[in-house]
Amino acid sequence: MSDHTPDHAPHHPDETSHKLPTDTADGLLLIISGPSGVGKTTITRGVERSIAGSVFSVSATTRARTEADVEGVDYHFVADAEFDALVAQDELLEWANVFGKRYGTPRKWVEEQLRRGRLVILEIDVEGARQVKAKMPDAFAIFVLPPSEEVLFQRLRDRKREGEDAIHRRFAEARREIATARQGTIYDLFITNDDLKRAIAEAVTAVEARRQRPRVGR
Ligand code: 5GP
Repeated sequence: MSDHTPDHAPHHPDETSHKLPTDTADGLLLIISGPSGVGKTTITRGVERSIAGSVFSVSATTRARTEADVEGVDYHFVADAEFDALVAQDELLEWANVFGKRYGTPRKWVEEQLRRGRLVILEIDVEGARQVKAKMPDAFAIFVLPPSEEVLFQRLRDRKREGEDAIHRRFAEARREIATARQGTIYDLFITNDDLKRAIAEAVTAVEARRQRPRVGR
């Protein structure tokens, strides 16, 4: 986690308080959620590439690293005790249990990037999004939907990451997550991933429009 808070980072009076900087800086916090298999990582990385000054927040997680994961790029892989310490020291803006493992967003790093006026992208689950929106109502939250449940089920299968049981569990969880997202007031925009290029373009257009809008209290 140390690379989130480089030694040369300027000290800021807000650093020790819980006052969050979204209404005083040009930075914008973007939340992207969606069930596994919906293509949200590709959309997230597409938005990051398309918008100058955007940065992806690398979460801490207790889940095991897979061969496809790069430490410090996809996640910071930490032991349970290390995650406990991050929570105890209020180092996480939000955290949640997802499929029995913990995932959390580095608070100081996010605050620092927002102060620099960046678009900070969080790819987090519905519970994490709920926590962030409660603390930072200015955050812009997008939920990515599959074109249909059938397509989602097929995509989970096509990933060939898991056995049949795990695929059924993920599918059931995905349905629950979609229902929760639809009921609540967390998400500002729902995007259907029927075509990746189109979905990325829709997200980029919405974020750019949101960045033009004056924020509350400015
Ligand atoms: P995976 O293990 O497949 O990379 O991610 C599983 C889930 O964890 C995804 O739905 C992802 O959005 C969510 N997730 C990843 N990082 C965070 C985080 O920092 N906080 C929360 N709340 N969820 C996260």
